[in-house]
Amino acid sequence: MNLIRETIEELKQQYFADERPWVVTYSGGKDSTCVLQLVIAMLQELHAEGKDHKHTYVVSSDTTVEMPIIEKYLRTKLDEITEFAESTELKLSCHKLSPKIEESFWTLMVGKGYPAPTSTFRWCTERMKINPATHFLQSLVNKHQSILMLLGVRSAESQARQTSIANRKLNQRGLSPHDNIPNAFVLSPIKHWTNEDVWTYLSNTGKDTTPYPWKNHDYMMSLYDKGSGEGDCNIALNPQSPSCGKTRFGCWVCTVVEKDRSMEGMLKNGEEWMLPLWEYREKIYLYRNDEERRFERRRDGSMGAGAFLPDIRRELLDELLQTEIKVSELYHVYKKNSPDYNPHENFQLIKDDEIELIQANWNTDFDISNYAYRIAQKYNRLMDRPITTPLRSKLENYSDELNIDLFERIYEIEVYRKNISTRYGIIGEIEKRIVNFYKGQFRETN
Ligand code: SF4
Repeated sequence: MNLIRETIEELKQQYFADERPWVVTYSGGKDSTCVLQLVIAMLQELHAEGKDHKHTYVVSSDTTVEMPIIEKYLRTKLDEITEFAESTELKLSCHKLSPKIEESFWTLMVGKGYPAPTSTFRWCTERMKINPATHFLQSLVNKHQSILMLLGVRSAESQARQTSIANRKLNQRGLSPHDNIPNAFVLSPIKHWTNEDVWTYLSNTGKDTTPYPWKNHDYMMSLYDKGSGEGDCNIALNPQSPSCGKTRFGCWVCTVVEKDRSMEGMLKNGEEWMLPLWEYREKIYLYRNDEERRFERRRDGSMGAGAFLPDIRRELLDELLQTEIKVSELYHVYKKNSPDYNPHENFQLIKDDEIELIQANWNTDFDISNYAYRIAQKYNRLMDRPITTPLRSKLENYSDELNIDLFERIYEIEVYRKNISTRYGIIGEIEKRIVNFYKGQFRETN
């Protein structure tokens, strides 16, 4: 029996061994595609015999800061899989898992001033990947009592992966309990497959009579050719899971890695239109390491670089909205003659809801002028939102005697410190702010 047939037969045994619905985690990368394709092949065989009695959930993580090319690819694939399942009547559905708006990258970095993530302060993975996945999986466990998750992990991926697979405690059926969700079990059906096994299987897609949601994997293979990286970035299951920033399919804003090799590869290989994204990522990487651009204390009052300063947050929002426009413009210039060109494509990097929440955070933290709305309106977003507050309106009555902008810069320090009992260092901070204000340093353009 060949490897593919053997794996499908093993999957069938697992399928009939209990009533647990299946959850296939799918990143669009080669390993998770391989598992999903095997599952779809098996489901079709069972469906033809009337034996597909339970549901399969295909789940994908969308951090909402995925590289646009990857987000578009994954969106297209999920639509194709959904259409395929409907037309073939397979009991299979797709689910894209995204962070709550309060936990999105922009809400936290621009809104609350979190420094762009580092390996020691990697606040993103838990909020953008683990929490949405845990919430969804837990809801399935609540509904079905138990679930079986199928992962595309393989020992041949890396030494670390080999060790983690070897250390996993398996029951008699080869299942391991999920680390954090009781009654969720994990199966790795291709853990012994080599790279070559995976590529051979995927490149032969369409050469047998089995229909799939896709005709071939040429586009995915071209993504592998363009971007470098280590493995796929699948659904993250626990905070100890390694950073996915080194993978091809990580977030475009990832500053956990020093250099975004994947993006660099894309830029050199026909995706030059994404250059503004690369430049923005470089900027937040630099700013995060620059203490001058952060409050002198953390929110709990302890010494050490704190949140990004208000001016920096304003600048980052402004540049993000500029980047959004630039990247869409460049896409239409560079991709016009490409076979997958979409003349209606318009990349939105930040949602209106996120800008609204950023404004709410700024109002709590420092803002009396509704700067998030002012900035958004420069780019024709949220045009109906107010660009002043009651306090700012009152101050404007005294604008001949009072420099409102300078007042705001000092007010920001006081508001940031409102929950910090010590006043130590505050005079120095105010003096520095006044000097920087007159030097025109870190001032937003409004
Ligand atoms: S790719 Fe980077 S930014 Fe995205 S969740 Fe992973 S570590 Fe965080």
